[in-house]
Amino acid sequence: MKKLITLVVPVMDEEEAIFPFVSAIDQEVRLPGISLEILFIDDGSTDGTIEQLKVAAQQDPRIRWLQLSRNFGKEAAMTAGLDAARGDAIIPMDVDLQDPPELIAEFVRLWRDGGYDVVYGVRTSRDEDTRQKRTSANLFYRLFNRIAQTPIPDNAGDYRLLDRRVVEAMKRLPERNRFMKGLFAWVGYRSIGVPYSRPSRQVGSTKFNFWKLWNFALDGVVGFSTLPLRVWSYIGGGVALLAFLYAVVIVAKALIFGRDTPGYASVMSAVLFFGGMQLLSIGILGEYVARLFVEVKQRPLYLIAEDSRQASAPEPTEPVAKGYRSQHDHEGASQ
Ligand code: UDP
Ligand code: MG
Repeated sequence: MKKLITLVVPVMDEEEAIFPFVSAIDQEVRLPGISLEILFIDDGSTDGTIEQLKVAAQQDPRIRWLQLSRNFGKEAAMTAGLDAARGDAIIPMDVDLQDPPELIAEFVRLWRDGGYDVVYGVRTSRDEDTRQKRTSANLFYRLFNRIAQTPIPDNAGDYRLLDRRVVEAMKRLPERNRFMKGLFAWVGYRSIGVPYSRPSRQVGSTKFNFWKLWNFALDGVVGFSTLPLRVWSYIGGGVALLAFLYAVVIVAKALIFGRDTPGYASVMSAVLFFGGMQLLSIGILGEYVARLFVEVKQRPLYLIAEDSRQASAPEPTEPVAKGYRSQHDHEGASQ
């Protein structure tokens, strides 16, 4: 039987990028013996993205789309895509062609012939990124891999092929915090990296600013390590020990040499230092408690507003490729 591969493409305000992406896939992806499905997830776009998707889906029966009810963020959009994809293997991809489509053939070869469950792209160069982004990314990976139980491969992004069973495993992870790279690493399975050099964005502009990336990194660390929480018992213990030793010294000095009043500077710096440290540790507690709060509420990760299968798009005048439409006409609106 022909294998189906689903490309899962989250898009937010990408009206100029949809058609270049589709035609790049058309031109560069030739997979004999495999059928392709392109699933776009419109993550609350406010431009003409959804109109572009509707047109694209009418022209090409391999294209499906989901529209989320608002912007939920790329991770949630990808989760929606993994839930709705039907492929035997799934490839999450960015729409801006920073994930080169010509890699797909190699992904598929390693999956089908090499028996790998996960084939992930590894960026060999980050030349197109600003120096600031490179350094911060580097620091992040080093920190993450030092303290998380399941390390993530350096410079591997979301661009990868996932076998169906990996996707099913991902679906069993119930957390609201969708730090995908961490989740991919957590589920494991037989994996291999494929090096590639990442081109710069073809059209449009990046959707991530510094603040979004910072929160993303925080989600990653807090979601996959309890070390920032636990480290305070050790810091507290160490400081208490030092304080005790110092107290002994002060008392001894007072007994031997008499009282020693001046001390404003040392008292002040100790007060400020410990005040700062206490606030910092409470802040870190807060990061975890806030996430507990979010998890406990058990809200859905995303909401679907519309789906290409239910959309009342005008029927195309020419019959679409066989099997596609008829197969889904019977499915209820049960998303
Ligand atoms: N994206 C999304 N929701 C968001 C932000 C981004 O679906 O809230 C999509 C975006 O449309 C693109 C992909 O995620 O297809 C990667 O975004 P971008 O290229 O801006 O990230 P960068 O490559 O700069 O890290
Ligand atoms: Mg990009």
